Amino acid sequence: MKYDYLVVGTGLYGATFAHEATAAGKRVLVIDRRPHIAGLAYTEPVEGIEIHRYGPHIFHTDDTALWEYVTRLVPFRPYIHTPVADYHGQRYSLPFNMHTFRQMWGVTTPAEAAARIAQQRRTAGISQPRNLEEQAISLVGVDIYEKLIRGYTEKQWGRPCRELPAFIIRRLPVRLTYDNNYFGSRYQGIPQGGYTALAAALLEGSEVQLGVDYLPDKARLDAMARRVVYTGPIDAYFGYQLGTLEYRAVRFETEILDIPDFQGHAVINYTDRETPYTRVIEHKWFGKGGQPKTVISREYSAAWRPGCEPHYPVNDAANDALYAAYRRLADREPQVIFGGRLGEYRYYDMDAVIAAALAKSRQELA
Ligand code: UDP
Repeated sequence: MKYDYLVVGTGLYGATFAHEATAAGKRVLVIDRRPHIAGLAYTEPVEGIEIHRYGPHIFHTDDTALWEYVTRLVPFRPYIHTPVADYHGQRYSLPFNMHTFRQMWGVTTPAEAAARIAQQRRTAGISQPRNLEEQAISLVGVDIYEKLIRGYTEKQWGRPCRELPAFIIRRLPVRLTYDNNYFGSRYQGIPQGGYTALAAALLEGSEVQLGVDYLPDKARLDAMARRVVYTGPIDAYFGYQLGTLEYRAVRFETEILDIPDFQGHAVINYTDRETPYTRVIEHKWFGKGGQPKTVISREYSAAWRPGCEPHYPVNDAANDALYAAYRRLADREPQVIFGGRLGEYRYYDMDAVIAAALAKSRQELA
């Protein structure tokens, strides 16, 4: 066999695994069906602006070792994510913090905001939140739920908030301080040269072949390596034999505008139901700006159908049970490692996906 590892997918899981295996002296072939590396983190320059082709990616982590790992590979530009919400033309700060509470209710102190939330929680009568709607109301009250959460979430996930798991909304912090830092992580930034530069640094030294689709050519490709790291959808790997897992897909309408500034901010979320897109991204504001033109992307969310890109796993109880059944099939293929957002059907952030690939590679290469 020519290779120790065949890595399927050049996204952050596959690229990190390849990096570690190559560094350990293994022979690694990395393939991707796309004509570019970096998976959905892929960025490319247009009009001197780094475009996030598959949606905004902001790297953030609390893990010092992980931050050192990525920043040793490529320099990062400091960036603090502070998206703004637009509800029928009214603007609110995100995540939910004292700025938001003042804009929503006119309150100015943490005690007043806490009292408002507590009163709305009591009126709603929720003690044990069982779904996203109940979780949201118990965290921030009904006004914020109705104006800033419900419409956005139902557009993004394509179903009522009562049918969504509570954990999704717990991704967003709630603070009684005047602090718009969305993630509030210890480290935050965007690689200079974009995520394509980060993936390229991870893949350095590994053999990479683009435009190679694994599943239709599986037997030939499997014969080339001792072990396989598969980062595509786990249900596709098994030919959907137990049924299809649900994903959300995202579509972008991207425009180059002959003006220097469209919205003065990297991300504005449209949280009402009527606006058909979920958010507008103005890519230049992930950097310093200064380019004469600007590039914007309107992001639309849709149900995933075969043939489009799966972006988000829908981790509700039915899908998680189906995933567990696929996982049992995967356990019968010990020569294959399933990893990443699609391989593990998990709503991973970038730091978590790199950490998972590092942990797996260290166990594998020990
Ligand atoms: N969310 C919301 N309103 C917003 C932004 C987010 O209700 O303006 C909810 C929505 O349900 C979303 C979840 O918070 O799915 C998590 O948002 P996050 O920004 O973490 O999603 P990402 O784009 O990173 O996947």
